[in-house]
Amino acid sequence: MPDEVLHQAAAEMLDWHGSGMGVMEMSHRGKEFGQIYAEAEADLRELLAVPAHFKLLFMQGGGLAENAIVPMNLSRAGTADFVVTGSWSQKSAQEAAKYCTAHEAANTHDSGHTTLADPATWQLSAKPAYVHLCSNETIHGVEVHELPDLKALGCEAPLVIDFSSHVASRPVDWSRVGLAFGGAQKNLGPAGLTLVVVRDDLLDQALPLCPSAFTYKTVAANQSMYNTPPTYAIYIAGLVFKWLKAQGGMTAMEARNKAKAELLYAAIDASSLYQNRVAKNCRSRMNVPFYLRQESLNEAFLEGARARQLLQLKGHKSVGGMRASLYNAMPLEGVQALVTYMRDFEAQHL
Ligand SMILES: *Cc1c(COP(=O)(O)O)cnc(C)c1O
Repeated sequence: MPDEVLHQAAAEMLDWHGSGMGVMEMSHRGKEFGQIYAEAEADLRELLAVPAHFKLLFMQGGGLAENAIVPMNLSRAGTADFVVTGSWSQKSAQEAAKYCTAHEAANTHDSGHTTLADPATWQLSAKPAYVHLCSNETIHGVEVHELPDLKALGCEAPLVIDFSSHVASRPVDWSRVGLAFGGAQKNLGPAGLTLVVVRDDLLDQALPLCPSAFTYKTVAANQSMYNTPPTYAIYIAGLVFKWLKAQGGMTAMEARNKAKAELLYAAIDASSLYQNRVAKNCRSRMNVPFYLRQESLNEAFLEGARARQLLQLKGHKSVGGMRASLYNAMPLEGVQALVTYMRDFEAQHL
């Protein structure tokens, strides 16, 4: 979270803009929250340059719930295709299989999910309802830097992307996307809010079993207020959107995120202690997993990092090692401090 946002939220916590109420105390149907919602939606649409023929939905349930909500809304055709590039897309395929036939069009398991399969090699099914791709695999540190053009591959299906962990870190090419979803907690705001960006023509294809509160058409028709939305999370995300606009929007954030990532990867590649195993053309700018070649030093590395206030560097339990997440609110100085620490630690232990 950007410090500025937390300070503003703290200052407004008991009384929002002289209304006599904190945001948590407002009715979601009152005019005050109506203004907060409308500004958040407009700011996000502008920031991500979302075209008019897409709806922005503020939902709940996180990325994992969308793994079920997407097939319940889109899989009338019976089969959906999955490009498995890591743990998150694997989970998406497994969950979707409860609602449709989940066909694996590609799987990078053999490389330990350190590569991306060329879209030209994907084994797409004949008429999938949609093609799912995780555009940033948070655990394996693999990012799709250019979204595939399904039409050019002879596939008319919409592309669904899970952009949970790099949403708002770079511009999105909406001409290649039918639906994008992401939990807010990595890059947009607090947990509890899920963003769905969906093209209008995909709104009316839900399976009859889809719960009303999770039916995109119903959510869209009610401006995300079919039921009570996560109002406080929307408010905080709205403050983050204004912060992102003040930073210069997506072009500026992309340049900044690229510089942060390049600094860290360069330090890793130049070292004989640290190692990143992901192919250079798909290394994530947001999540940088790395390993110490001497695993016995892992605990000492983490302890020394904590002493310098460098926190949350332990890798995901399923892959081990270390992981540095460089979300939008992490300043370049934070990455510089990490790189300096990594050099010092290596010099001490050589
Ligand atoms: C964190 C994450 C999720 C899980 O989101 P929840 O909000 O915990 O359900 C899904 N996909 C990706 C890519 C993630 O990084």
